Amino acid sequence: MDPVTKALDELHRRISGLRGGEVASYIPKLAQADPEDFGIAITSMGGRRYQAGKADTEFTIQSVSKPFVYALALTDLGPDEMLRRVGAEPSGEAFNAISLEPGTGRPANPMVNAGAIATTALVSAADTEARSARILDCLSAFAGRRLGYDEEVYASEAATGDRNRALAYLMRSAGSLSDDPYAVTATYFRQCSVLVTAADLAVMAATLANGGRNPVTGERVVERSVAVRTLAVMATCGMYDGAGEWLLNVGLPAKSGVSGGLIAVGPGRFGVAVYSPPLDPAGNSVRGVAALTAMSERLALHLMHAPVHLTATVTDTGHGARSSRARSPEQTALLNRSSRRIIAVGAQGELEFTETEQLLGAVEGAVPASPGWLVLDLMAVTGIRPGSAAMLAAGLADIARRGHRIVVAAQEPFLAAADGHSDGHSDGHSDGDPDGHPDWHAFGSRDDAVAWCEDQLLAGEPPAGPPAAEGGS
Ligand code: GLU
Repeated sequence: MDPVTKALDELHRRISGLRGGEVASYIPKLAQADPEDFGIAITSMGGRRYQAGKADTEFTIQSVSKPFVYALALTDLGPDEMLRRVGAEPSGEAFNAISLEPGTGRPANPMVNAGAIATTALVSAADTEARSARILDCLSAFAGRRLGYDEEVYASEAATGDRNRALAYLMRSAGSLSDDPYAVTATYFRQCSVLVTAADLAVMAATLANGGRNPVTGERVVERSVAVRTLAVMATCGMYDGAGEWLLNVGLPAKSGVSGGLIAVGPGRFGVAVYSPPLDPAGNSVRGVAALTAMSERLALHLMHAPVHLTATVTDTGHGARSSRARSPEQTALLNRSSRRIIAVGAQGELEFTETEQLLGAVEGAVPASPGWLVLDLMAVTGIRPGSAAMLAAGLADIARRGHRIVVAAQEPFLAAADGHSDGHSDGHSDGDPDGHPDWHAFGSRDDAVAWCEDQLLAGEPPAGPPAAEGGS
């Protein structure tokens, strides 16, 4: 058994004995759920799926649909209009509270019923049926399989859902809902009656964790910016009036529903889902909260944990970098004598702020006081954030201004990214043409970069070129 499944199994075993909580009964059909049903599932960013217990048991998605429908409406409306129509403040109240902004009637957030109903109404569609179809398509794309409805739960909620209708009528009278309240709540009840399993929910959560691309099917379901905003709303409003404590103890964006489903998202890491119907007084699955709390503690998943830097960014700093070129004895002697003039600094991995700051610190520490050649070996750098690319370029420009020649060895895509601030000249030319960039020259290998510096030194060129006409970057 693989270690992830083993850990899930162990967690499942430990928590299945937990009693307490009540199965929701205000939707009569939900009261028939088996309180013993308990499943856990995880989907990784590589699209691998793990599960324990009853992770293939179907149940209605209920409120766990809310973040996904929010993502759909957000895609339709854009962030400004979406926020104008539905707020993003935790209400601190129960899921079915009348949490409307005084004056405007704008619902507090899309995770409580009022906001969710308003959000459902904002999904663009010609009519009610088309809207339900779009919502089902969207939930299915997140899950990576065709989902269907539980008609009995739908009928049961439609027969008893007057409080939700009342919320819709209230919003209509306050001006925050323009559609027919009866029809909109019917669409909302349909959305809540979509059948899923814990395994489905884990894939849906993983799609948000993966920036909107389903890691199992590869389909881009929503834009990254939409996934980010959805996760932000889940983090502050996803757990009913238990949202604050949840963020404190578990520290992950999450959403729970009255049928006992619960999802949590480790951004860039995984999606996890639990199904267990008994709910605590805040309306969250008792075993779901226990499982996620234990998992978060054990694996240090809390979002506020500072990211751990597992690999060193700077791999080497040193004088006397030498190429493999054949040199005459005189040339070799000259290069040996000048070993302090060509230095090389190597880096690896992803360059974000912390790594770039480390790299520039290492470069500062390595460059000699008198002008020389700096070879920045970024061959093992796998990526750079746009802000970090600009920061690196600015740091190098500063060193170039002090009279050093900078020679970068990097992979082609990296050069294109790092050079984005310049005149669009982004080729990592390996032909030794040094005139591509105002602040540095680029080569496709460390050896070529060092050889170019040696050639310059042997030819008696001064390290610094003529002052750049426009004064660097
Ligand atoms: N359909 C349910 C309702 O609106 C969903 C509530 C929930 O899961 O929080 O009452």
